[in-house]
Amino acid sequence: MLKIKRRKTRTVKIGKVGIGSGHPVAIQSMVKARARDIEASVRQILELEAAGCEIVRLAVENPDDARALRTIKRQVRLPLVADIHFDYRLALASIEAGVDKVRLNPGNIFKPAEVKEVIAAARTARIPIRVGANSGSLRTRSRDLAADLVRSTLAYLRIFERAGFYDLVVSLKGSHVLDTIEAYRKISLRCDYPLHLGVTATGLPMDGIVKSSVALGELLFQGIGDTIRISLLAGPQQEVAVARSMLNSLGLRHFGPELVCCPTCGRCEVNLPEKAKKIEDWLTGLDPKKKRRIQRFKIAVMGCVVNGPGEAREADVGIAFSRHKGILFKKGKIVRTVGLEAGEQALLDILEGEIR
Ligand code: SF4
Repeated sequence: MLKIKRRKTRTVKIGKVGIGSGHPVAIQSMVKARARDIEASVRQILELEAAGCEIVRLAVENPDDARALRTIKRQVRLPLVADIHFDYRLALASIEAGVDKVRLNPGNIFKPAEVKEVIAAARTARIPIRVGANSGSLRTRSRDLAADLVRSTLAYLRIFERAGFYDLVVSLKGSHVLDTIEAYRKISLRCDYPLHLGVTATGLPMDGIVKSSVALGELLFQGIGDTIRISLLAGPQQEVAVARSMLNSLGLRHFGPELVCCPTCGRCEVNLPEKAKKIEDWLTGLDPKKKRRIQRFKIAVMGCVVNGPGEAREADVGIAFSRHKGILFKKGKIVRTVGLEAGEQALLDILEGEIR
């Protein structure tokens, strides 16, 4: 099976999470409440952690937000990133409050003297900075958005490098898929900082999932990208679910067994969505320790005998339904046939045996 070869990068630590080619691609998301609403922020961060998020970012809009970070930090385990725009003093206040990383936007905090103050504070606090360019806030624009993002980022990085500060993560998010891919591809050849991947302002959730999957999928397949955020106009847990599924599908992370189902067609004789849902519900309710025992399993649920047996045979455990029966497979071999109604339960019985 093909394996992705990651681009070699430096390592940056965000709290306890290592970012870079020596570490798994990390999943991050953003709190959608105001940081100064401490209760809502803490609740969302805990929900994000339960969903599998590894790093969480909060918008810091004013000094109240920055101050709130100290209290939030005491109540959560995930590393916190302060997202700063326009006012470098909010970065200083957030560092003072104990965040694990700050994100600066080259498009709106650009005076070298101000950036240097943030660098000095980050150095003292021993935390990294993300240089987070965004196509929506570029100061100069030409017809080549990718080139503009790269030029602006490289110029900004020089301020850090002249100050001897290399504890950096870089992102160049555009709202267009092709520009985003090109910008990341270009910058990946010009520096060895870990890259935070994302597409910004992606639209409604369905489009957001597709745009992010196309852009990030292409980049990750090329070995580019060390941490990802799926920006969706939806609950942050959904961002994390998409990120996990994306990394799982590329074989970059293994968050649990993969459930493969056919899309069904006129040949299908059973209610396959219902049967697949039973398997999915069983997986969702599984104790995490037990789930780890079948972490890399492929489970196939197929609607007929055209492609079904072939696909089910390639899976660790599978079932292919025909008109009158279900054919159960384990590690490529037929185990037995069962009645249509008993099919999914028979598959679950095999899985139960694997986790015992
Ligand atoms: S496995 Fe059978 S039912 Fe499912 S899509 Fe293929 S041909 Fe159709």
